[in-house]
Amino acid sequence: MNSRDSEHMIAELREKEGYETTDDFKQADLILINTCSVRERPVHKLFSELGGFNKHKKPSAKIGVCGCTASHLGEEIIKKAPYVNFVLGARNVSKITEVLHKNKAVEIDINYDESEFAFKDFRTSAYKGFINISIGCDKACTFCIVPKTRGDEISIPDSLIINEAKRIVATGAKEIFLLGQNVNNYGRRFSSNDHKKVNFSELLRRLSKIEKLERIRFTSPHPFHMDDEFIEEFASNPKICKSMHMPLQSGSTKVLKDMKRGYTKEWFLNRVAKLRSMCPEATISTDIIVGFPGESDEDFAETIDVLNQVKFEQVFSFKYSPRPETEAEHFTNVVDGEVASDRLSFLQSLNNEIIDEKNATLLGNTYRIYFEVLHSDGHAAGRSDNNILVKVKGSEELLGQMKNVKITTIGRTILTGEIVA
Ligand code: SAH
Repeated sequence: MNSRDSEHMIAELREKEGYETTDDFKQADLILINTCSVRERPVHKLFSELGGFNKHKKPSAKIGVCGCTASHLGEEIIKKAPYVNFVLGARNVSKITEVLHKNKAVEIDINYDESEFAFKDFRTSAYKGFINISIGCDKACTFCIVPKTRGDEISIPDSLIINEAKRIVATGAKEIFLLGQNVNNYGRRFSSNDHKKVNFSELLRRLSKIEKLERIRFTSPHPFHMDDEFIEEFASNPKICKSMHMPLQSGSTKVLKDMKRGYTKEWFLNRVAKLRSMCPEATISTDIIVGFPGESDEDFAETIDVLNQVKFEQVFSFKYSPRPETEAEHFTNVVDGEVASDRLSFLQSLNNEIIDEKNATLLGNTYRIYFEVLHSDGHAAGRSDNNILVKVKGSEELLGQMKNVKITTIGRTILTGEIVA
């Protein structure tokens, strides 16, 4: 989502202000730092990075701090780093060309509605295009800062999304990647009542009618909204890539309740079972937080139990990080930092074992790979429909192509293969 916000800012600056991107910040006339604030570490990093940029930048270069940390720290950023020229929140991306011309502007209104703003086009990949389908988040997860930095959830009208998808496909890209905090809650609210209610399954059906569009990916769906219609659409629509992100957060129903996630361990496992029965080739990834306040050894064991039962293809795991303006920030039953770290490493090594075991079974399989990136070691890499990352020996001519690839060597994060007819 942040990457897409950056693309939007670049698009506006290129088209309206004549800027171009550079790889060398010492040459830059404008330095934008697009920040995340989901966990605490990136916030600390911001101020050290700012110091470095300020020291070595061109004297006339402006610095802007954008994104979620901008939303939540606002004015404080300029107080701490007075050389910053403007602060632009995650919900105010469309104002980039305005703040550029105002000294010390701070635009961080989290209720600002840019759900229908016609951003100019700029994409970092020629092969796939990110599309925002909603802004904000309506959930009240007690650990999460996002609703405080990105505001209420508003869906983008389907006509705008479909037009954007058509523009992407017209440039030759074969894949779109839909973005939203809860994509499968799409259609709950639009900024104007004029828009006909379309839910996420219907949006997927409409998008899949676009000729020459071959692959549709999305993130994140919320487990609470994984109804049968959605899973059935996912399983039966051939253009939808068969990889599902299912952010579990915890396997303990008690912890899930304290997190206000809206589902139980049983519901989550039931949805996985439904998905696996309808779509056995689907791979499943997840997000897990360990050390949430009140998480006991028994609660953590429930998370491990889900890991052992589901055997996710990919797990993004985090140690709980208390965030300002969240409910959990005030929870007093804090888990000892060392205990949380031990749980995290236990979970990660178990997950590595699971992945190694699963990957070993892929040797000799053939997948249709859409090549998107070049590696400096003479390989081109891409993903299968179900999100398996594969590289083969090759160069530019493979980029943007779909080829059948037979897996010849197994690795933990990337597999190696060779192209077959
Ligand atoms: N909308 C998505 C989450 C987006 S944030 C959802 O509801 O599932 C991406 C991930 O960051 C979350 O899934 C969660 O695992 C992690 N995260 C969010 N807040 C966190 C916190 N306070 N501490 C640690 N991890 C956190």
